[in-house]
Amino acid sequence: MHAPRLIELDGVGRVFQTDEGEGVHALRDISLVIDPGEFVWITGPSGSGKSTLLQIIGCLDEPTEGVYRYAGSAVASLDDDGIASVRRDEFGFVFQDHSLLESATACENVELPAIYRAIDSRSRRRRARALLERLGVGKRAEHLPAELSGGEQQRVAIARALMNGATTILADEPTGALDSQTGDEVIALLAGLAGRGHAVVLASHDPAVANLATRCVELRDGRVVSDAPSGDRATSMASLPRV
Ligand code: ADP
Ligand code: MG
Repeated sequence: MHAPRLIELDGVGRVFQTDEGEGVHALRDISLVIDPGEFVWITGPSGSGKSTLLQIIGCLDEPTEGVYRYAGSAVASLDDDGIASVRRDEFGFVFQDHSLLESATACENVELPAIYRAIDSRSRRRRARALLERLGVGKRAEHLPAELSGGEQQRVAIARALMNGATTILADEPTGALDSQTGDEVIALLAGLAGRGHAVVLASHDPAVANLATRCVELRDGRVVSDAPSGDRATSMASLPRV
């Protein structure tokens, strides 16, 4: 017997039924294994299935084909409560639009995922503040999202993603709304999380991710067309003739 892998997709497909009754094959036959400490860059053109893949990994959506196991459990075999608790405790999400609650302070936003857990409010607040400190926005804890820069908002969103002790961080185009320097800082923060043992899966067109990701998975029309250490891809792209 060997230890279960963290994320294991085996022949996963996702077909969306449209109103016209046609099936849109967003993902086809995806087999991937991702372990803690990896920083996986999911790339590919718009519509290639990146967001759908992240949603399935994060248990926000379910495959219509194949098997998805998380930490050794087939997600499809869990009941609704089981899926809800895996989603809440194992995954932290970071989106392009930071999706912070505008009426809540940075600190309250970070506390939010822990509200439904049995933690007293003082420890919750202490942990949220410590996370904001760690992400370099401790001084902004009492500010509303609208009072923060885009980069600060994304740091708060990362703190929120970590609040429940997530093993896996899923980031969908997290630098899409940022200037390149701020975007690079956010990518570096995510790389640091992988360095601390989180599995980080980041969907992005941003080529700056190549420098820090450990692995690059490229999708096209819902299929994996390459899966290689990230540096290899940067090298192979650099050697392509310019057209
Ligand atoms: P990406 O994030 O790479 O741009 P997506 O995962 O969003 O790609 O989409 C992959 C494909 O699945 C696209 O053709 C998209 O139109 C389709 N798709 C995604 N979500 C839905 C949905 N809820 N209903 C129907 N089609 C969808
Ligand atoms: Mg997308």
